[in-house]
Amino acid sequence: MNAEQPDSATNNFPIGTIVIVGAGQAGSWTAQTLRQEGFTGRLVLIGDESHPPYERPPLSKAVLAGEAEPASTWLQKPQAFDALGLEWRPDTRVNRIDRRAKRLEISDGTTLPYDKLILCTGGRARKLTVPGADQTRIHTLRTIGDAQSLAKEFRPGRSVAVVGGGWIGLEVAATARQKGAEVTVLEAQGRLCERSVPPEISEHLLGLHATHGVRVRLGTHLSGIARSTDGRSVLTLADGDTLTCNAIVAGVGLVPNDDLARDAGLDCDGGVVVDERCCTSDADIFAAGDVAVTPNPWAGRRLRLESWQNAQEQGIAAARAALGLPVVYQPLPWFWSDQYDMNLQIYGVPLPSHRMVTRGMPGDNSFMLFYLEGEIIKAALGANAARDLRFARRLIEQGKQVDAKRLADPDVPMGKLSA
Ligand SMILES: Cc1cc2nc3c(=O)[nH]c(=O)nc-3n(C[C@H](O)[C@H](O)[C@H](O)COP(=O)(O)OP(=O)(O)OC[C@H]3O[C@@H](n4cnc5c(N)ncnc54)[C@H](O)[C@@H]3O)c2cc1C
Repeated sequence: MNAEQPDSATNNFPIGTIVIVGAGQAGSWTAQTLRQEGFTGRLVLIGDESHPPYERPPLSKAVLAGEAEPASTWLQKPQAFDALGLEWRPDTRVNRIDRRAKRLEISDGTTLPYDKLILCTGGRARKLTVPGADQTRIHTLRTIGDAQSLAKEFRPGRSVAVVGGGWIGLEVAATARQKGAEVTVLEAQGRLCERSVPPEISEHLLGLHATHGVRVRLGTHLSGIARSTDGRSVLTLADGDTLTCNAIVAGVGLVPNDDLARDAGLDCDGGVVVDERCCTSDADIFAAGDVAVTPNPWAGRRLRLESWQNAQEQGIAAARAALGLPVVYQPLPWFWSDQYDMNLQIYGVPLPSHRMVTRGMPGDNSFMLFYLEGEIIKAALGANAARDLRFARRLIEQGKQVDAKRLADPDVPMGKLSA
């Protein structure tokens, strides 16, 4: 197909050009879905990285451990783009959206018109801002390049300070430990992953890391970073203590890449605000993935999800919505994390108003926690319980009543609970 001249004669949809900004996981699924749904007009995928779209979860796991090649994370090989009739523009940034002219300003100095625009710009790793942080090499982990340079730090005899005890920080800590490095995690809050899991899980994570020899310091604020004479880094803590290490990794969260949208006057609130059709405050602009803030009935509020599932499913939903197909995107959030030999999964959003039911003991190798409203499971969370969690997911989605006593009994198969 000649990309400059959309083949409108055979296009099932009266749309000439669709541009996707951000060639990550959400962008890739958006592009594939547009073609699968029969859009034959001009399709452009612009991304500022040089790799084809890739999945990021292995970056803190197998790729960081050197057990998988970076290319194994690619969602497509570049040749697949030709087959899709997709103009993929790597190493290219969109600098500005001119909504009135429906045109993008591109980093190569050109402009690009669009009929529909889909923002899949994800986020970037938040940087440390304490004094001295700009003078020291501090690793973050978001891209393949980040994982490749961080992996070199992990070997016996090296010490690593991980600032931030959230998911990325803890997965990095686990991988660094497995590669033989000494690891200290510094967490400002009173418990690990405080924003996303209940206290029982924070305790479980703390025990898990302690068992593997990670030092975790909770309620610890970093106040400065300096270089020691031997080339190592010295972290000064708010309580006056110091920590010397070979490498520092910041795992202190994600900054949504919503600058383009904000500058263009779209509604933003810690990300690009969209409705359940993934539509922004401009009817011709959609957003999906880590950058999108979406109404979520499971949380009872708007959420910006940072997960593999959401990047894929919202990318698909945004593509369909851009074509005018019926879409109601209200996903049951699902997230997983792998640390050492533990696979932790969370379905739904545990809320303080929920009643917790325990199946197995937190701290054991395998257990589950359920969050109920009346007799209905609203969220479930478990360690090394993937199969049972799939049953739990079904129960949550079906909204079926369960007997809490039977739910708590590991001898009652999950599949028999709703009978
Ligand atoms: C190390 C790591 C481990 C993870 N592990 C898990 C896990 O175990 N489980 C789980 O559920 N989730 C995990 N995630 C989260 C998951 O990978 C993300 O939610 C997902 O990648 C989001 O996809 P996205 O397409 O929205 O954003 P991204 O993957 O960030 O893609 C956005 C792309 O847009 C580009 N871009 C931004 N602005 C512009 C612009 N103006 N012009 C051009 N290009 C632009 C960015 O550079 C980027 O390439 C992990 C993430 C990381 C980083």
